Amino acid sequence: MGVSHAALRRRLEDQRARLQEEIKQFHIAGRDNLGYSNHQADDATDAFEQTKELSLLQNSERVLAQVEAALARFEAGVYGICERCGDYIDPARLKALPYATLCMDCQQRAERA
Ligand SMILES: [Zn+2]
Repeated sequence: MGVSHAALRRRLEDQRARLQEEIKQFHIAGRDNLGYSNHQADDATDAFEQTKELSLLQNSERVLAQVEAALARFEAGVYGICERCGDYIDPARLKALPYATLCMDCQQRAERA
């Protein structure tokens, strides 16, 4: 039932590589300034597609930042420890969300705050 930190680290590294590739492709395609240009989209569908792609890119960048932060925590030897209270994060939670930095209690408190 347990999942080793080494396995989680591999998952994070895989995810980082995938996200980096995804973001790189996006920039190669020159779609990275979508939504920021003054260019009028040909029609509403294009505008919708552009907005959707931009939000996908932003989401990938956000997740990548979290994945990188988690890998940095491995380096620092504090992976799996809650950033707020210093408690161990539930392994089941890490398995579901390998880049979690807060335990469930702190996460819930943070969301309410
Ligand atoms: Zn905590």
